[in-house]
Amino acid sequence: MKIFHGKAAITVNILEELHMEKKQVILKEVILEYVHNTPRIDEIGGLEHLKDWLKKRQRAFTPEARKFGLDQPKGLLVMGVSGCGKTLSVKAISSLWSLPLFRLDMNLVYSGIAGPAEEAFARALKTMDSLAPAILWIDEIESGINDKVSEGATGRILGYFLTWMQEHQSSVFVAATANRIDLLPAELLRRGRFDQIFFVDLPVEKEREDIFRIHLKKRAPGFEGFNITPLAKITKGWSGAEIEQAIISAMYEAFNEKRALSEDDLFKIFSRSVPLSTTMYEQIKKIREWAQRRAVRASVASIAAEI
Ligand code: ATP
Repeated sequence: MKIFHGKAAITVNILEELHMEKKQVILKEVILEYVHNTPRIDEIGGLEHLKDWLKKRQRAFTPEARKFGLDQPKGLLVMGVSGCGKTLSVKAISSLWSLPLFRLDMNLVYSGIAGPAEEAFARALKTMDSLAPAILWIDEIESGINDKVSEGATGRILGYFLTWMQEHQSSVFVAATANRIDLLPAELLRRGRFDQIFFVDLPVEKEREDIFRIHLKKRAPGFEGFNITPLAKITKGWSGAEIEQAIISAMYEAFNEKRALSEDDLFKIFSRSVPLSTTMYEQIKKIREWAQRRAVRASVASIAAEI
């Protein structure tokens, strides 16, 4: 690549330039989107198993890994409860592995905007092959690849995807996220398709502490010193996204009254709202039961022990 000319070592700047060159390639590809400003892995609270798995594979696409006798990983599927860090984790892979991340929008594949769905899908995978090494993020994979429609475009797309997953030699790592896992076809979940299937559950108390710390530090560094432990205790059943949103609401209360945020603001917000998991208890229980048999827990501890 021309950006390497006259450069003795690969630096962060060169990597950024390289990612930008790759971004140019996909400008024509309307169904692929280059994902900017991906978070660091330490911006994820909890999910230690998943983070550990990713850290161990940080050099998975290097020649040294091949020389060591390791095959390159194909991909991972992250499923689970909404707002608990699936998207965040996928984005963080890009920062951790220093690989560009491209999001494939399955809704656009079927929209016809890029021509017939199967052709658009096949072209997107070929483009990804040409962009390697790279990460392909298939968001809500179940909305485009499911077992409800086995005929027509959906069936053919599933077939094409499975073959590509099996046979592609390029260094493209697939990171798929899913909410409605019951819609995913069994073929996709069979061993060997994805390297691992992770289940992301509601955060446990220790994870909620981390989430509080991360978001308070990000938004209001002065508030890092808050006593987080009781806040983490009273937010049993809250997702990371809900904790973040509640912190923002509490900050607005304080901002509006022209004063600094206090721990009390946070307590007030958390004690007068109910997390989604309370009303969606049955649905979350079903997801958990499904995951127990088919996926690996992304966290080291289980929220089920707290409930
Ligand atoms: P959905 O299925 O609804 O798309 P998701 O599981 O992909 O949800 P994210 O988009 O990753 O959820 O989370 C939304 C936001 O909530 C994140 O951008 C982040 O700010 C916050 N958040 C969620 N989980 C965590 C976490 N474990 N650590 C830190 N922040 C988190």
